Amino acid sequence: SNPQFQAAVPILRRIEDAGFEAYFVGGCVRDALLGLPIHDVDIATSAYPAEVKGIFRRTVDTGIQHGTVTVLDHGAGYEVTTFRTESGYQDFRRPDSVQFVRSLKEDQLRRDFTVNALAARHDGTVIDNFDGLTDLHNHVLRAVGRPDDRFGEDALRMMRAVRFQSQLGFALEPATAQGISDNAPLLQHIAVERIASEFTRLLLGIDRRAGLQTLIDTDLYRYCPQLADARAALNHLAALPDTQLQDPAVAWTLMVVLVGAPVNRFLRAWKQSNDLIATVSAAAAIWPLLGDTIPDHWALYTAGRTGLRIALEAYVHVHPDFNSTPVQAAYDALAIHDKGELALTGSDLIQAGMQPGRAMGQALRRAEEAVVAGSVPNTKNALLAYVRV
Ligand code: ATP
Ligand code: MG
Repeated sequence: SNPQFQAAVPILRRIEDAGFEAYFVGGCVRDALLGLPIHDVDIATSAYPAEVKGIFRRTVDTGIQHGTVTVLDHGAGYEVTTFRTESGYQDFRRPDSVQFVRSLKEDQLRRDFTVNALAARHDGTVIDNFDGLTDLHNHVLRAVGRPDDRFGEDALRMMRAVRFQSQLGFALEPATAQGISDNAPLLQHIAVERIASEFTRLLLGIDRRAGLQTLIDTDLYRYCPQLADARAALNHLAALPDTQLQDPAVAWTLMVVLVGAPVNRFLRAWKQSNDLIATVSAAAAIWPLLGDTIPDHWALYTAGRTGLRIALEAYVHVHPDFNSTPVQAAYDALAIHDKGELALTGSDLIQAGMQPGRAMGQALRRAEEAVVAGSVPNTKNALLAYVRV
């Protein structure tokens, strides 16, 4: 019934017509059964990659060593992955080898949670080898097989567990939670980028509180960057009003403000982008000035439009009664919002007889501060007079 599945049905049929099995698998099946929007459709097949490439005219080897071939069809791309098992996991993260297999059940066995191990035929029939449907209906997240083994194989699954708990609003089955408690230190072997990506998704989920609570109760947080001693801050975060967060910058602003860590060091340790670090730094810098009084002009100006918006969103989240309108109005009323809007430039100063150099930089800075403060009009003549050239 879902248009995204409908568009992919001919792909499954072509594979079947060639004598192989093909199924929708993973998050798309789970989300469709939950009535949630689906992002991308994943297909699993008994055909080996070379066989998949033989069936379709246009394919791309997106992850051929893991068995993934992207099939191009009517401008869309579909990831078709050969059934596989994984073995090894000597380093608690990636399998030492993947083995292509012909059986769906073996492929489902390697998946992390029962609700992620569902498969569906092109007619919508669900193949459920691990009681994933029962867990789906009960909103329970349960490891496939023995939790201890599964988290020992791949420690990222522990972060995926708390992420899905928040994203789906599911409860964590007790033995699965126990498995996280028992294996939490293994998270140290996982790349920070991957931990961060799951953590951000946890923070943006519908049940952030539950995901954070598991992170705290299992001690998993102790193996996340910069959080070893942040139990109190995480408890505080978990106790905030549980309205969903939409923006990673807002989520990370709340994190750094509650943890009280230097923003740059904290977010570098989490391997966040320069863009996010700049925005969160600006937001965190103006945060302490929010409250009963309006921040001074220069603080508003240096926060910038984005930094201020993120700070206000985060602040309102912690203080739901805070009225951000006057602060926003004060920002909007600033004479300039960017250095580029200043009516005085370096070449103006050179024309007026000044030598390029340190003094000129200082003069421009004084002009900028005076215009932002509202004490000098933003015109060339007024500013030339003000800097006394
Ligand atoms: P979403 O797309 O919302 O992130 P998803 O379930 O599709 O959810 P993906 O990371 O896209 O998550 O992975 C697709 C599927 O691959 C999962 O549903 C799961 O069956 C399997 N999978 C992914 N990562 C792992 C892992 N680390 N261990 C075991 N199985 C995994
Ligand atoms: Mg997915």
